[in-house]
Amino acid sequence: MNTDSKIAEIYDNIVARNAGEPEFHQAIDELFDSLKLVLRKDPHYGENKLIERLFEPERQIIFRVPWTDDNNEVRVNRGFRVQFNSVLGPYKGGIRFHPSVNLSIVKFLALEQVFKNSLTGLPIGGGKGGADFDPKGKSNMEIMRFCQSFMMELHRHIGEYRDVPAGDIGVGAREIGYLFGQYRRLNHRHESGVITGKALNWGGAQVRTEATGYGVVYFTEQMMKAQGESLDGARIAISGSGNVAIYAMEKAQELGATVVGFSDSSGYVSCPDGVDLELLKDVKEVRRGRVSDYAKDATGATFHEDGLIWDLDYDIAMPCATQNEIDADVAQLIADKGVRYLAEGANMPSTLEAIDVYRDAGIIFGPAKAANAGGVATSALEMQQNASRDSWSFEYTEKRLQGIMTSIFKRCEDAAAEYGVEKDYLTGANIAGFKKVADAMCAQGVI
Ligand code: NDP
Repeated sequence: MNTDSKIAEIYDNIVARNAGEPEFHQAIDELFDSLKLVLRKDPHYGENKLIERLFEPERQIIFRVPWTDDNNEVRVNRGFRVQFNSVLGPYKGGIRFHPSVNLSIVKFLALEQVFKNSLTGLPIGGGKGGADFDPKGKSNMEIMRFCQSFMMELHRHIGEYRDVPAGDIGVGAREIGYLFGQYRRLNHRHESGVITGKALNWGGAQVRTEATGYGVVYFTEQMMKAQGESLDGARIAISGSGNVAIYAMEKAQELGATVVGFSDSSGYVSCPDGVDLELLKDVKEVRRGRVSDYAKDATGATFHEDGLIWDLDYDIAMPCATQNEIDADVAQLIADKGVRYLAEGANMPSTLEAIDVYRDAGIIFGPAKAANAGGVATSALEMQQNASRDSWSFEYTEKRLQGIMTSIFKRCEDAAAEYGVEKDYLTGANIAGFKKVADAMCAQGVI
């Protein structure tokens, strides 16, 4: 059997045994195109069922999360933790609280995390977790009771040498605090390195809050530098207005770009003269409001309930909200704007068909597993500081983040060049991420 038919058969088998998991299939699909190139060149990666083992999570945990709301009603949610691959280090990846969370979404996120963490060059494996819990409209006490119940089960599966969760959609500093507090009570030890994204006064790292957004902008800067261009004077549209989006806006504006709009699930804000970040942070991080609240208080900004953030005029697109927010039609709209660069802050925000549109339009594309790896990389730096009971300055940590993003870009660029697909950073990221994990799996036996 030739390499291409062998890989097609492996793909069909994986899809068949993970039926009904479209997001997981999509993530596999995106990787397999690149793996074909590797197997054609290095067939030994196809031996000993390496590919089949790599795409089978080491462990998948699903659990009941009962809790009581403020009206004393009992509620039940479903919790997940997928521990995908620990060949390079403890499982590492965030926890998402959103009503859409299911096994397929957690598995795709965990698989992406394996490759992303490998690309950082740091000793971390890949995992992801979450619950189908909707934090919107819940009181602080309800959030706390939910987090405590979630940790009641999760605590037996995590640890600084086993699995180290962090935040993601719906899980920020407040939730990390409640989760860590409950873990500490249950385990009777102050194990700082068990969770990252902690507050600065009890074991957190400088720059962790900013890291994913800053990292997306650093990655974009590298893509532009390779073309002899810079962010200075560029106009950027960013979807979302959460952690990733806000700090991408902050760094982009610091580097001379203008962010012309941002969004949430209720609509988008157009702000042709740039974003007032102090106001946006107050609305989103303190008042926990909507982007429409920003438009009410800002000068020169308008809120649009209908249409898409991508209807604006801009040179660079940064999707920073959620998976599959850009399909082929939206990608075509972006391409028709004459956009030259697109960097993914969210995980898998582009469908496979959207990526084809970017390719056809010659848009230089920074895939999530490379462009948004700054968050997990800085989490690994937080683990380093926790292990050595140390705490680094903002400036030093940001330099490390910048250095890591530059190395990730270089790994993608080099792998793309080696496999004859220059400037295809998606294929480069997949190949570089894969080879490190695959080599370690080969070295550690049939595991
Ligand atoms: P937040 O919860 O802080 O923000 C999410 C933002 O996306 C909100 O503005 C939210 O709007 C919007 N959003 C979420 N779901 C939808 C939807 N279905 N339709 C439209 N808008 C939506 O999350 P983060 O900023 O942390 O995460 C954003 C993305 O980045 C996710 O894909 C996450 O996996 C990825 N990521 C995050 C990292 C991190 O360090 N935080 C690291 C690497 C990747 P609304 O409030 O209306 O729901």
